[in-house]
Amino acid sequence: MKVWYSEISFSTRRRSEVVDLTDQILQEVRKSGIRNGLLVVNLPHATACLTLNEGESGVKNDLLRKLDELVPPSGNYEHDRIDDNAHAHLKSSLVGTCRVLPVVEGRVVRGTWQNFLVVEEDGPRTRRLSILLMGE
Ligand code: ZN
Repeated sequence: MKVWYSEISFSTRRRSEVVDLTDQILQEVRKSGIRNGLLVVNLPHATACLTLNEGESGVKNDLLRKLDELVPPSGNYEHDRIDDNAHAHLKSSLVGTCRVLPVVEGRVVRGTWQNFLVVEEDGPRTRRLSILLMGE
């Protein structure tokens, strides 16, 4: 079994935004040469999220708006005593930061409308995304 690892570095430009990293991730999968196995994508951050969904502007905006409704940027958060980003920590925990997908015959098995979307909630900043492939 082969194991392949890489990281994608990227910058966000706003306090909150959705960044579509699908093309970069699929490029890493091709570079790995692994045609059958598992793809593990992990966002090693506590104030951003990783989800799979349609990379359409309306969906991106709806996602940001609904997350703000569920976890308003301002609230009676304990963490805001030392930092002003408690809402971003909570959103990251609710949505998650890691996805695992099968790779079959060189293709990542995913739905037509399942793009890899990073939800920034504490930008702008430089982020990284880790990519692990295991297989043959
Ligand atoms: Zn914090």
